[in-house]
Amino acid sequence: MSPTQNQKPNQPPKRHSPEDSKGRTALESKEEKEAMGWFHTARFLTTAAQMHHLPAYDLPEIAFVGRSNAGKSTCINVLTQQKKLAYASKTPGRTQHINLFALGRQGQSDAVLADLPGYGYAAVPKSDKIRWQQVMANYLISRPNLIGVVLLCDPRHGLTELDDILLDVLRPRVEEGLKFLVLLTKADKLNKTEATKALSIAKLQSSGGVVRLFSALKKQGVAEASQIIWDWVHTPDGAIKVSPVQPELEASQDIFEDDEPASED
Ligand code: GDP
Repeated sequence: MSPTQNQKPNQPPKRHSPEDSKGRTALESKEEKEAMGWFHTARFLTTAAQMHHLPAYDLPEIAFVGRSNAGKSTCINVLTQQKKLAYASKTPGRTQHINLFALGRQGQSDAVLADLPGYGYAAVPKSDKIRWQQVMANYLISRPNLIGVVLLCDPRHGLTELDDILLDVLRPRVEEGLKFLVLLTKADKLNKTEATKALSIAKLQSSGGVVRLFSALKKQGVAEASQIIWDWVHTPDGAIKVSPVQPELEASQDIFEDDEPASED
């Protein structure tokens, strides 16, 4: 039976499963399971210290950005159901790199996930911070195959000045159709009132963007976030929306030399 068969004519198809009182999703829908399966295929492709070192791919790319300690690595690991995928990004020498992962079945990669370095970490020297703001802004403005950005934010701190700078950089591309999702991480640390308030504030600050609560600890919002991102790339029947499937991408090791010594994030 088609998942939309029981829907009333003028209602959008129901894509996301209801959450229980603790924010956990009881049962994932068929679409959510498919999206989660897709995320699970993530595998390391390459790492680059500079935007111009990134390989050019004719595949839709989705970037994960956020302040250091916002929960970005944990979120990527939970979404991909792999314990160490994003923590590999934290190994010395790679902390200030853009790390790329392929998504889709082996031999049929259909998207790329880009893990951008966390920003705002106090112990990073000022010169590195400035260099990284430039690399990040350059990436967000000019990466041709970038189709969506996921901004991770710890709602107890809210969107900070650095997040605002990033929103300003992104705004023109969002207006041109770039997809944008804010995930409020560590939602398990909020009570219901705090969660509602955090959602409203983040919606306002992101100019009405899509905002969701996310808890890696309780697996809250995992299925829904997977589905939202899957929908950015695929049509409802699973075909790729944006560009043709390209032959398998080959993983490469750290092929790019760092221009400057990386400092720990
Ligand atoms: P990153 O610097 O943005 O990659 O952040 P990490 O993923 O390393 O997370 C920073 C800290 O937040 C770690 O101590 C994580 O264990 C913790 N954390 C991440 N996600 C959650 C969550 O959903 N709930 C709670 N309670 N802690 C979390």
